[in-house]
Amino acid sequence: MANIVLFGAPGAGKGTLAGKITKFSPVVHISTGDLFRANIKNGTPIGNEAKSFIDAGKLVPDSVVIGMVKNRIDQDDVKEKGFMLDGFPRTLEQAKSLDEVASLDVVVVLDIAKEDLKNRILGRRTCPKCKKIYNIYNDELKPKKEGYCDTCKDTLLTQRSDDNEETFEKRWNTYLSQSESVINYYSAREGLVANVDGRRTMSYTEEELRSLLKM
Ligand code: AMP
Repeated sequence: MANIVLFGAPGAGKGTLAGKITKFSPVVHISTGDLFRANIKNGTPIGNEAKSFIDAGKLVPDSVVIGMVKNRIDQDDVKEKGFMLDGFPRTLEQAKSLDEVASLDVVVVLDIAKEDLKNRILGRRTCPKCKKIYNIYNDELKPKKEGYCDTCKDTLLTQRSDDNEETFEKRWNTYLSQSESVINYYSAREGLVANVDGRRTMSYTEEELRSLLKM
């Protein structure tokens, strides 16, 4: 059992890395972005509150996110198998609140330049069924048949409504303004932070990831 945090800019490859890690580790993948999108789809109060912030490329208020995450990590599967948080914490306040309820084994920080992120965000497509992430601007990551999932065959890929140029700029600026305090907070603890080259999240091997996560 391990408690992992994946930290990095929008498009840095947190979801890709999470997909690789869940193939060999039972940790429960918790993506706050995915939780919000599911809440929006189901029209829940959390979804209704979060939608306007997400569409505007802003962070959802700490009070909403923190409650949602605490709720999720209090569930039995997480207690048994540990968690891999993807997209949380994003602010110092969130990081401090996480410390109140869990102890962390590793914080993976994905490092990548802004220029490398834009195409990732604008080209990102997701299969709504199996959640596989594609990129139409990358020959290795584009679907074999344009617009459709390789695995779920006749399932049309979707694009996130916040993956557009204008919202990307805002999300990037928010990341810049919040990330330093979170990284400094975790870097003060010896041996907690593991750095990953965000340009090559696709090519990390299981062996490399195991050693990074001390698994
Ligand atoms: P993501 O899928 O991680 O890129 O998240 C999509 C959007 O959900 C973000 O741009 C935020 O609006 C919101 N969101 C996700 N996680 C958080 C968080 N930890 N704190 C605040 N807002 C969040």
